[in-house]
Amino acid sequence: MPSVILLEGEIHMHLETKLVQAGVAKDERTGAISFPVYNATAYRHPALGQSTGYDYTRTANPTRTVLEQTIAEAEGGDAGFACASGMAAIHTVMGLFSQGDHLVVSLDLYGGTYRLFEQVLSRYGLRFSYVDLRDVKNLEEAICPETRAVFVETPTNPLMQITDIAAVAEVAKRNGLLTIVDNTFMTPFCQRPLELGADLVLHSATKYLGGHNDVLAGLIVTKGEELSEKIRFLHNSIGAVLGPQDCWLLLRGMKTLALRMERHQTNALAIVKTLREHPAVTDVYYPGLPEHPGYEVQCRQASGFSGMVSFRLRSAEQVAPFLESLRIISFAESLGGVESLCTYPATQTHADIPQEIREYVGVCDRLLRLSVGIEHPDDLIADVCQALDASLSLTGGSVR
Ligand SMILES: *Cc1c(COP(=O)(O)O)cnc(C)c1O
Repeated sequence: MPSVILLEGEIHMHLETKLVQAGVAKDERTGAISFPVYNATAYRHPALGQSTGYDYTRTANPTRTVLEQTIAEAEGGDAGFACASGMAAIHTVMGLFSQGDHLVVSLDLYGGTYRLFEQVLSRYGLRFSYVDLRDVKNLEEAICPETRAVFVETPTNPLMQITDIAAVAEVAKRNGLLTIVDNTFMTPFCQRPLELGADLVLHSATKYLGGHNDVLAGLIVTKGEELSEKIRFLHNSIGAVLGPQDCWLLLRGMKTLALRMERHQTNALAIVKTLREHPAVTDVYYPGLPEHPGYEVQCRQASGFSGMVSFRLRSAEQVAPFLESLRIISFAESLGGVESLCTYPATQTHADIPQEIREYVGVCDRLLRLSVGIEHPDDLIADVCQALDASLSLTGGSVR
């Protein structure tokens, strides 16, 4: 086992403190405040049959260990695993399943996950049913003898639909299924699925955890020794691990997660208000709105709403002028960074989902998704307003 010593021991620390203190002085020889990047791929054995805890970097790397322990603690899990990307993390977890196995999956799903399931893993004999998990009855109905797990995104991407994690986990347990939650949108600062009964949590750490649109990474956190050992085996066997430099970048980003999430959320609430009052917009989706159908569940299971907002323009013709008029917010395909981004799911994140499924789910060609950054809210509001005004005037609509 890796030998990085956890100094906190019995000291009670809030998540904010744990994240800031991650790696601090854990390199015992030097006392480095910022944990060093260990580029070494091989480690000398002190004697035959002995190990420092590090042998070969795919199996374990000191910088990666600090990151993995940090995310495991943050999520309240037993073990953490850092992967080359969010997709690598999901693929690694899917190694738990065998030909013929079936999974029940959230209907409104990240497009890349859908592509991995339908275009790659289906060829290996895994089967997936996409189900609206807002109602757990749909889960019960979708379970068949081959079902092994339920894969949940909440809030969903991009429609911000809320699934009751505890209710899903209860049905899953009763039926002998694993509950897997993609917690990318919420982060452990807002939501800790393992504490609600889930068995495994996944992240695209490229998003909020990294937080600066500059590192691609995935994380897995497991609960229970048996599951942790299975994932440890798969992580090492598949080898889609995160490199040490990227581990360091991600750790550095995670130190400010709490501050960033608070600002993402207050900015998002300010933008939501602007969007709802603007005549160019017909619908706004944000789980922090009391009239959002998932609001009550969200308040029960999470301590925040994050900074993701989706909305529909009045017509699809407004999309191009809106995106082209944005001056501060970038039209770009990611989320969770300090810089505000706007995504057009129909042609970007969800382009690989067949059009009829996309439209059935509600990812229509009027839908836009904002990842609200941590800029000054007034600047973001001004940018959104002028782009919305432009989208109306350029398409012949009336400006306020
Ligand atoms: C981005 C994303 C992924 C994929 O992660 P990568 O780091 O891009 O590989 C998975 N799930 C969700 C919810 C995402 O937003």
